[in-house]
Amino acid sequence: MTKERKQVLCVEDNTVNMLLVSRIVEAEGHELIKAEDGYVALDILDGTVPDIILLDINLPGMDGLELARRFKADSRLAEVPLVATTAQVLVGDRERCLEAGCDDYLPKPLDIRKLREVIRRYLDNNNL
Ligand code: MN
Repeated sequence: MTKERKQVLCVEDNTVNMLLVSRIVEAEGHELIKAEDGYVALDILDGTVPDIILLDINLPGMDGLELARRFKADSRLAEVPLVATTAQVLVGDRERCLEAGCDDYLPKPLDIRKLREVIRRYLDNNNL
């Protein structure tokens, strides 16, 4: 039995983080769609509904919180699991992400095991 290949959209401006995410996503057998900022992400989402979105909050131009609000206000995208990633460790940061509509939150630097766990939790359960 082969696992279904899912689409993971990663919105991330840092190439090192993007590389890390791409290694995990590929090792899990899924397809990574890369967006280096919010505008590219919105363009991609015009034509594609991914199975999960990993969203950097600290982005140039439109920030991740604004993007999260837009995704959740769009009926096509509202149901897509949205996982925020942020290096900001201020108190209340997690709450701000969840308030903006994010379903989950991963602090940076990204922990490989936690990232893998989140991807499995949201993607693999759908196959049962
Ligand atoms: Mn960033």
